[in-house]
Amino acid sequence: MSVSFQDYYEILGVSRTATEKEIKSAYRKLARKWHPDLHTGRDKETAEEKIKKINEAYEVLSDKEKREKYDRLGANWRAGDDFQPPPDTEGFHFYTGGDAGASGFSDFFEAIFGGGFGRGARTARRGPVQGQDAESEVELTLEEAYRGGQKSLQLSTREICQACGGQGHDGQSFCPRCGGTGVTSSTKTLAVKIPPGVADGSRIRLKGQGGEGLNGGTRGDLYLKVRILPHPLYKVRGSDLETEVTLRPEQAALGDQVSVPTLDGAVLMKVPAGSRAGRRLRLRGKGLPHKGGRGDEYVIIKIDIPERLTAEEEKLYRQLAALRKGV
Ligand SMILES: [Zn+2]
Repeated sequence: MSVSFQDYYEILGVSRTATEKEIKSAYRKLARKWHPDLHTGRDKETAEEKIKKINEAYEVLSDKEKREKYDRLGANWRAGDDFQPPPDTEGFHFYTGGDAGASGFSDFFEAIFGGGFGRGARTARRGPVQGQDAESEVELTLEEAYRGGQKSLQLSTREICQACGGQGHDGQSFCPRCGGTGVTSSTKTLAVKIPPGVADGSRIRLKGQGGEGLNGGTRGDLYLKVRILPHPLYKVRGSDLETEVTLRPEQAALGDQVSVPTLDGAVLMKVPAGSRAGRRLRLRGKGLPHKGGRGDEYVIIKIDIPERLTAEEEKLYRQLAALRKGV
């Protein structure tokens, strides 16, 4: 049977290389423009026709698998051309009779993607289908991110139900294994290799740990987004670190050597005489790794006084006060 070819890219007014975001934004604009409630009379009918086509185009182009399948049909078709569905669509439901269009989709859509079991239902596929990539998060302490190493991670995963191939039904009744949802969930433990110096927000790819493939298709990949947990001592500023050190007044006034924490262990830092509160002292190369080197650690000076003074200390402070009065 031949159907009328639908150019989904033309309908949404986007290029064949449009990104997901561009497609979504084009769809939103058009859906607002052609919303039937915004039109009356003949215009309303036109709008209803338009919105049907817009929805159908979006249904296909916003779905990675459907879009790939659609793209495989080739770019040489123009909207409305007589189109013969390729032989690999054999096995899909063909609606030639009264049911056609009941779903709101064109004959073309039904021929290519099947239909009949609810809007957007997955259709039976013959060839191998690669599993979908999955995304998750991994939380690391600053030290774990800095040093790298193994980390074991518990993940709950959702996979396409192998009993019904993700359809949720066997054509007549719901799949008992997945309760008709087409997906099953399980928990697994993964040993994740953390590369040393991994940055907050970066992604670690675990090949073949994503969604299961269908009909012998390979598994998708799992992407773990790194989230570095807040640290009690350090603030992370890009690849630089910030920490604080508290000095007594005489240390700040006269200068001193003080012990400060770094990711490589404590180091002695020279505090120059006359350091005021808020001064930032730099420990070069003690920050986090970045391309071609390491960031710095900034030590911010805080000054505090002893809570209780001994009699002798108090005497000295009084001398200091008397001295200042004379200035
Ligand atoms: Zn199932």
